[in-house]
Amino acid sequence: MSSLKHTLRDALVTGAIHSGIANTVRKRARAQGPLLRILCLHDVPDRAWFGELITLCTERYRMVSPEQATKGELDSDRINILCTFDDGYQSWTDVVAPVLAEHTVKGLFLITSGLLDCPSEEEVRTFFRERLRLNTFRAPLSWDGARVLIDAGHTIGAHTRTHADLIRCTESDAREEMTRDRARIQEELGAKIEWFAYPFGTPSHHAPALDAIAKAVGFTYTVTTVPGFAPPLASVPNAIPRTQLEWQQPLQSVAHWIEGGYDPVYRLNRSCR
Ligand SMILES: [Zn+2]
Repeated sequence: MSSLKHTLRDALVTGAIHSGIANTVRKRARAQGPLLRILCLHDVPDRAWFGELITLCTERYRMVSPEQATKGELDSDRINILCTFDDGYQSWTDVVAPVLAEHTVKGLFLITSGLLDCPSEEEVRTFFRERLRLNTFRAPLSWDGARVLIDAGHTIGAHTRTHADLIRCTESDAREEMTRDRARIQEELGAKIEWFAYPFGTPSHHAPALDAIAKAVGFTYTVTTVPGFAPPLASVPNAIPRTQLEWQQPLQSVAHWIEGGYDPVYRLNRSCR
């Protein structure tokens, strides 16, 4: 996104907060139950920024675990926050887990197992370039790292075997991507894998038919990257909205996104395309 578009977007988000539009967004969501905002992050190498983010989330809102989110054990007065992380990065054990431990917070980590199985740095680079459309090298999570996360009480989910854009796959390929990823993670970690995150995750990368495949494969919850407050997960377990934060996004902006200022701006932007 160009900086002009960013500036316009941020102005609209601020406008949504100050005009009361965000308040209306929250009121509508609250009619369904307590407010739950699921955040989506990826590689988090900056400990200072992440520490400030979690401090904001614990002081102004209430952080919940995946289990509390699915059981509906939520605060009725404050916005509840669940932190989720996609792909598989070494920063999850180096930065994320220690910060979450300081605040006794539990997160959800969604793994694309093909990345963890890359045997060399060269293959990791190729995987990032071809599968995640990223040209910069990032250190991937190891299976030992994933075990550290489980031992710390975090939840692991799946994110396809090769970070496939499922909307472009045949039905059998989409099923294969989900099945192989889930089986590989369960084989390594021995954990029951209930969560699945759609790679890329926007409305252009998800369709309801994929939720049916995910259910048949054995997943209970599927998540996108369409921003919004999450519905009660026990009754609406599919295509659950998540708000994807940007790298080192200023915390004032994060607060506006959490409080509902970004949701209508995202929808407006999609409808203008
Ligand atoms: Zn991803």
